[in-house]
Amino acid sequence: MTPISFICTTCGTAYTPAVQPPAGCPVCADERQYINPQGQSWTTLKQINRTHKNIIDKIADGLYAIYTTPSFAIGQRAHLLKTPHGNILWDCIANLDATTIELISQLGGIQKIAISHPHYYTTMADWSRAFQAPVWIHQRDADWIPRRDFELQLWEGLKKELLPGVTLINSAGHFDGGTVLHYDRFLLPGDVIQVAPDLKTVSFMYSYPNYIPLNKKSILHIRASLEGVAFDAIYGAFGHYITQQGRKAFDDSITRYLRIFE
Ligand SMILES: [Zn+2]
Ligand SMILES: [Zn+2]
Repeated sequence: MTPISFICTTCGTAYTPAVQPPAGCPVCADERQYINPQGQSWTTLKQINRTHKNIIDKIADGLYAIYTTPSFAIGQRAHLLKTPHGNILWDCIANLDATTIELISQLGGIQKIAISHPHYYTTMADWSRAFQAPVWIHQRDADWIPRRDFELQLWEGLKKELLPGVTLINSAGHFDGGTVLHYDRFLLPGDVIQVAPDLKTVSFMYSYPNYIPLNKKSILHIRASLEGVAFDAIYGAFGHYITQQGRKAFDDSITRYLRIFE
């Protein structure tokens, strides 16, 4: 049998190709996720391609959301950021098909991929190969990387300039290596910073599905990590977007969260 990369149906993580599925999914076994109550189950990219399609949606000048319908696994969005110095894919989604590759190529392809945290690693190896783009992940999450058979770039420290004007920031919190992306007036926070459905505030959780809040030390670190960083719009991972006065929304939300510890 040819080895296949098995994909966890609950979180979308794709593992190193093998003839048998892994014994379990470490990402789901972690308390920030959950194991499928019906039992661990696996799929493959080929199977997902048959039942799912991707939508590429222009959400701002130079910014496209990419997401799957019907929703698959965690249901997050990836974003394609166009800059004069090249395109960045921010976060990944599991479904990658020929149509998506063709349409993104028409938008100029992908020079670099950066991922906020392990819940969105999904089929990063396939995205990396399809676009010949290295994947940038913070060193502090290196133990979560489920496969290494592609071009991987680990980075360290608080900040990393990925392309001119595009900065990765290790805000941590949800995961130690948790990263947000800053470019011009945009902040793309994955779910390290979660945009709330009111589209006016953000929040921060250790686990979203299991409702585990983040401690004070982490909130203070998130605040410090973005000190002096100017942004106006915050594009979250689930289609909730704050398009104006994002910096104020972030500051007010941190203050609101800190009040809980008083
Ligand atoms: Zn999983
Ligand atoms: Zn997450």
